[in-house]
Amino acid sequence: MTSDVYFVGSRSELPLDKISRGEASYFNMDFSLVKKFEKLIDESGILDDIRPNDSVAIKMHWGDLGGHKTIRSVFVQKLAGKIREKKAFPFVTESAGLGNTRPRSYGVGRLEIAKHNGYTSETCGAPLIPADGLKGLNSIEVPLEDGFFLKKVHVASIVKDVDKIISLARVKGHPRLGMGGALKNIGVGLTGKTSKFEFHIDSEFPLIDKEKCTKCGDCIEVCPTNAISSDIEIDGSKCVKCWGCGEACKPKAISVQWSNSIDSSYKMIDCFEAIVKYCGPENIRYINIIMDVTPICDCISSSDHAIIPDIGILASRDPVAIDKASLDLIEQAPMNPDSCCISQENKLVKIFENTFDSDPMYQIKAAAKKKLGSMDYTLKEVA
Ligand code: SF4
Ligand code: SF4
Repeated sequence: MTSDVYFVGSRSELPLDKISRGEASYFNMDFSLVKKFEKLIDESGILDDIRPNDSVAIKMHWGDLGGHKTIRSVFVQKLAGKIREKKAFPFVTESAGLGNTRPRSYGVGRLEIAKHNGYTSETCGAPLIPADGLKGLNSIEVPLEDGFFLKKVHVASIVKDVDKIISLARVKGHPRLGMGGALKNIGVGLTGKTSKFEFHIDSEFPLIDKEKCTKCGDCIEVCPTNAISSDIEIDGSKCVKCWGCGEACKPKAISVQWSNSIDSSYKMIDCFEAIVKYCGPENIRYINIIMDVTPICDCISSSDHAIIPDIGILASRDPVAIDKASLDLIEQAPMNPDSCCISQENKLVKIFENTFDSDPMYQIKAAAKKKLGSMDYTLKEVA
């Protein structure tokens, strides 16, 4: 099966020669990427199945404090506007991160970060709603029959109330997965904290080293479920695997076995599959923005130089095809000579090879194996 992936380039192609001869104007919206983005939405048909009164989640990454290369709010606003044209109700959503001690780990903290990074209901043209509740702990269990690793996935509870989801992802590197695109935006971004723990970590629960423990009680204080006793034992029946205790323990007496890149990639696809099965593949559409392609993901509190020049924006019904097309376009692009990855030969595929042994093709191949989409695609440029 070959899937269609629609594309608009980010070069403005403003006719400077004609402008210099007075035959054309600078002030022509046709050359604006924002205008081209709206055309991409229309011509790709990704909103065609939206019905009046549908609740439509725009799933994006709100970044973290300090990062500055997340998606520009004008694109969110234009997408929300197109959804409103269908007489549906758009909202912008994101789940809390792993942990329990930083603003990004809570729904309310997430909203504060969103505001800091320029996302408000005014700038996005739609309300912002945390996907897994104010404490980042609301999820539903979705069973998975043939998961690579997981038999059930904790999915952010907002999916219960959503009719359609539009994944709006900025493509970038990712230390564990090699690349963050459409698959990661949904597969990690809409999972609950428990499955985020399982995606990152092999240990069943955090492990406490009694030799290192000073009995300070910080872990007891942050634990949201009172799972840690006064003699510093974790009760597995109460632990929701938030990793708050590990973050809080200053002597580093609490540890876990972190997953390697390939296992994380397969576990992430388990999460993605559970979300797609719960919501229905026909109810999720994908937009990938290939601009400001930073070497590491939006969870990191700094944004390094982009590794390549901006390329453009893609839209598709197929999450595998859009991520494969994005990766191919990135690999074909010239590298930024001032990128931290300039010494690497094959760009995104090789960026983390020496440090994290990650490869974006792990997740793409795993998703294709599960028939969640096709690695074969036709790139259709929207003129
Ligand atoms: S936070 Fe660490 S050192 Fe303090 S009681 Fe918990 S395990 Fe022990
Ligand atoms: S014991 Fe479990 S629930 Fe409590 S803070 Fe640690 S990981 Fe979170």
